[in-house]
Amino acid sequence: MKMVEAAGSLFPPPQPVGDDKFHDHCGVFAVCGHPEAAKLTYLGLYALQHRGQESAGIAVSDGEQLSCHKGMGHVAEIFTPEILQQLTGRLAIGHTRYSTAGDTDLRNAQPLIVSCQKGPVALAHNGNLVNAPAIRRDLESRGAIFQTTSDTEVIQHYFARSKQAGTPEALADALDRVEGAYSLVALFKEAVYAIRDPRGFRPLCLGKLGDAWVVASETCAFDLIGATYEREVEPGELAILEGRGITSLRFAPAHPSQCIFEHVYFSRPDSVIFGRSVQASREMLGRLLAREHPAEADMVVPVPDSGVAAAIGFAEEARLPLRFGLIRNHYVGRTFIEPSQRIRDFGVRLKLNPVRSLLRGRRIVLVDDSIIRGTTSRKIVGIVREAGAREVHVRISCPPTISPCFYGIDTPTRRELIAATQSVEEIRQFIGADSLGYLSIEALRQAVGDTDGRYCLACYTANYPTRVQEPLIAARNRE
Ligand code: AMP
Ligand code: SF4
Repeated sequence: MKMVEAAGSLFPPPQPVGDDKFHDHCGVFAVCGHPEAAKLTYLGLYALQHRGQESAGIAVSDGEQLSCHKGMGHVAEIFTPEILQQLTGRLAIGHTRYSTAGDTDLRNAQPLIVSCQKGPVALAHNGNLVNAPAIRRDLESRGAIFQTTSDTEVIQHYFARSKQAGTPEALADALDRVEGAYSLVALFKEAVYAIRDPRGFRPLCLGKLGDAWVVASETCAFDLIGATYEREVEPGELAILEGRGITSLRFAPAHPSQCIFEHVYFSRPDSVIFGRSVQASREMLGRLLAREHPAEADMVVPVPDSGVAAAIGFAEEARLPLRFGLIRNHYVGRTFIEPSQRIRDFGVRLKLNPVRSLLRGRRIVLVDDSIIRGTTSRKIVGIVREAGAREVHVRISCPPTISPCFYGIDTPTRRELIAATQSVEEIRQFIGADSLGYLSIEALRQAVGDTDGRYCLACYTANYPTRVQEPLIAARNRE
């Protein structure tokens, strides 16, 4: 095995951990009315790190001016105690990011901070605007200068240009022109705004810590700082947090289409989002999966960590033992050096290792949350077979993923989504399983308690709840 060397041209450059490409996303956090606002935001981002690990930033206000620090990498690397000490003020917002729109450099790291006629404003955005390319072209043709390639900047442009004098009115004016997903926190000199698009695609939660207000993409961030969860920011709500308390305004009627994939995969199981425990949703996905696709087997084995909660539900429903037959190495970084003699499926092996004594000679139900390209599942099935499993029955706790997301989840192009072009039987053959079962759409909705169509299911149905502009589709198909 070759060793990592600082500048060794003898060695191949570090490779991205192949199958982890889209294990990132965006998380936002905010504090209003606490002397240690920056430090709490740092901790909040720490708990939301699973939503984005490419860059992070914190902006603070001391009532007079805004200051900001951003960097590339993980939250813990970017913010030293010295840096946090310089970020003084009782109001703060933070962001942790993986790019789904825009380039992957520091320019695009958030919060995005600008000064305009209405004063300074910093924005941190989770989600993706579907009409941003058209807006940008239009504004640029009229002389606007953009400093980033991030879709979030168009909101700032519209805010700055709005003829409305009041801040909430100008923001509402700007939001009226954009379409798509935005869970936003905005920082002004004397207030923090928490805003959710009328469809409420991404979660956004409100909490309290003593007299201070806190806002987070997921409630797991509240747990870390000892804050209590109060409620969701409602779809179409603009909540103004300031010294006096909270003022809630509606800038648009709600038409909820919350992202079901947050429950399937993205959010942490210890969070409550869209008013529901993610763990409870996932266990129910597993239970319903066991009812729809039972298997004659000896044990249930989760693909860690993504399949664990669903596997618990599956095993309980099927009355089969749950065994951790695959062990995850939690210390794998984003890059690795491959040995010069190629090892098959090295990227997956680095992360997952089979427990041979458990698997040998057994009939296994292997539970995971989703199959995207199919390459990971194929490798994992191979590893489980190599470890001696007699049969491998793969069960997936969502329906086939047939269409990409335009609302802030980084899925590959339709071409690369195996279920977009292959039947379940073809996918079974590709991944090398003895049987393959996906959850139905009805059961998926049932598991999250969706009785009235409050969820977006577009990656399973290709029915998008908003218009999606051609340039965005073309861009995704070029990726
Ligand atoms: P693959 O089918 O090889 O593309 O990878 C599927 C694995 O990626 C599963 O274990 C999932 O947990 C994980 N995964 C699920 N959804 C996504 C997503 N949108 N982006 C990336 N990985 C995902
Ligand atoms: Fe979520 Fe899929 Fe809808 Fe995107 S398309 S918001 S991932 S349900």
